[in-house]
Amino acid sequence: MSKVCIIGAGLSGLLCGMRLSKAGFEVVIVEELTYPGGLMASTHLGGEYIELLPHHLRRTDKALYQVTKELGIDSKIKWYDAFWYGRASRKKVGYFEGGFATLINLLIQTITDNGGTILYSTSVSEITRREDGTYVTSCVLSDSRKYEVESRHVIFTGSCRTFVNVSHGLPISMNTRDQLMNLTYQSRICLALLMKKLPSDAYIQLKFPANSNTPFARIINHTACINDRNYGGQILYLVGKCQISDPLWVESDQKIMDEYFRAYRKLYPLIKKSDIKSWRITKVRYAVSEQFPETDLSEPLDNIYVCSSALTSHAALEAPENRMDLITTLANDICNRIVDKEKAEHEHKEDVIITAI
Ligand SMILES: Cc1cc2nc3c(=O)[nH]c(=O)nc-3n(C[C@H](O)[C@H](O)[C@H](O)COP(=O)(O)OP(=O)(O)OC[C@H]3O[C@@H](n4cnc5c(N)ncnc54)[C@H](O)[C@@H]3O)c2cc1C
Repeated sequence: MSKVCIIGAGLSGLLCGMRLSKAGFEVVIVEELTYPGGLMASTHLGGEYIELLPHHLRRTDKALYQVTKELGIDSKIKWYDAFWYGRASRKKVGYFEGGFATLINLLIQTITDNGGTILYSTSVSEITRREDGTYVTSCVLSDSRKYEVESRHVIFTGSCRTFVNVSHGLPISMNTRDQLMNLTYQSRICLALLMKKLPSDAYIQLKFPANSNTPFARIINHTACINDRNYGGQILYLVGKCQISDPLWVESDQKIMDEYFRAYRKLYPLIKKSDIKSWRITKVRYAVSEQFPETDLSEPLDNIYVCSSALTSHAALEAPENRMDLITTLANDICNRIVDKEKAEHEHKEDVIITAI
């Protein structure tokens, strides 16, 4: 089987890596960060893993649930009753024993068990095509050394805009390039806190009093719902929509923390700074796609695939809720296309040999 270069070790890159390495492809994954998981990355806290950005499963996450079944970790999902303040409803939310790291770590293990490689601190700077149709993915390592991956197929899982920036050397039509470049994304700043206590038992708070002017758009009291873990405290997330042109985007983590916490205290005056045990800011430039193309752009050139959240829906008006599930469906679809193509080419080659004989 051929070689596949996958750019990004988030959920979609690892899923593709798992599927294609299992199907016998030689898989190389390149990830610019020092750790896996992308938006679903975790850190260690107390005796547990916890995501840097809040995540939960929904009952309707069918494609993702199927993956957990295949990997034998469906029994590790626990369902909790969660109160959603602002939508005045109770919903079931799912969460893994061991957090989402359970899924990410098992995908990595399956890839490496099947001979795949994951290179961290490796940023893709350019993808070019050779005359024989194979691709060269040029990477820069964190110490500025250069590295190239030659492959028959390339799957890019970052934002569509980043894809356009690294694919200037490819003969992709101007129309496709423009459409990909025009897909805009919202950024997010998330303050995750380990607290001594939480002042609310709502899992998610989406509405705030008029004129409260909070820099965050939602509060997630993770442990108000997922309350059987050993984090060494209560987990609170404050998640804000922030444009990169906003002055807050370039502020220091301490300044952002001060601003977020000041606004939080206005909502809950009984909470004090001394209730904070530790905290961490995570900024994401391409967090949520806000536009979707009219047509399918996931294969802008033969054997080049873009598995990005902005391409999971066509002509949709707003960001769908089941984002992990949609990217899982797109990743599955891309892998099926690659496997089918290889099979067809293999059969064609055999036909040619038989005819020649
Ligand atoms: C705050 C927040 C909360 C969310 N909560 C939920 C939830 O509860 N339920 C849900 O269904 N979805 C949720 N989502 C969406 C979910 O996180 C995403 O759908 C999913 O993680 C996307 O995975 P991905 O692999 O496609 O992308 P990513 O996780 O973005 O992975 C892409 C990877 O590519 C790497 N990369 C990019 N460019 C390059 C390059 N040039 N070279 C090398 N590597 C590169 C990046 O570093 C990254 O690791 C949430 C998203 C956010 C922002």
